Amino acid sequence: MEIKFSGRCLCGDVTYLAQGQPVVVAQCHCEECRRSSGTGHSVGAMFASDTVRIDGSLGTFSYISEKGSEVTKAFCARCASPIYGVNTRLPDHLTLSLGTMDDASGLAIEVVIFKRDKPHWDQLGDGVTAFATQPDWEP
Ligand SMILES: [Zn+2]
Ligand SMILES: [Zn+2]
Repeated sequence: MEIKFSGRCLCGDVTYLAQGQPVVVAQCHCEECRRSSGTGHSVGAMFASDTVRIDGSLGTFSYISEKGSEVTKAFCARCASPIYGVNTRLPDHLTLSLGTMDDASGLAIEVVIFKRDKPHWDQLGDGVTAFATQPDWEP
């Protein structure tokens, strides 16, 4: 039986179901993640887009990253919970916000990115590989 990860936003209008294991689980301290989350970092689980089904009404906001790619953040149109992000560098993958997952048993943060931008009041994961910015990495 294949493992599945379900999740939802705060109000419940948006739900999702991801099949299989994520490609990577990352903690990101970049300025965009800090501002859009309102906290010191985001934690996301990247999946191939065709393994994720999302239902509900989403709003989106797009911006150009430091590396010149376009990043789109999708959030619940009603309660604004962050649901996923997608980057034109990897257009066939999306990154689900781990805090919206119902049960993330078995998942752990594997990598910290944009450590350079970590505010002094936030914490790095223990014993996790950290990169100053975005590593040149592809799934
Ligand atoms: Zn909602
Ligand atoms: Zn980020």
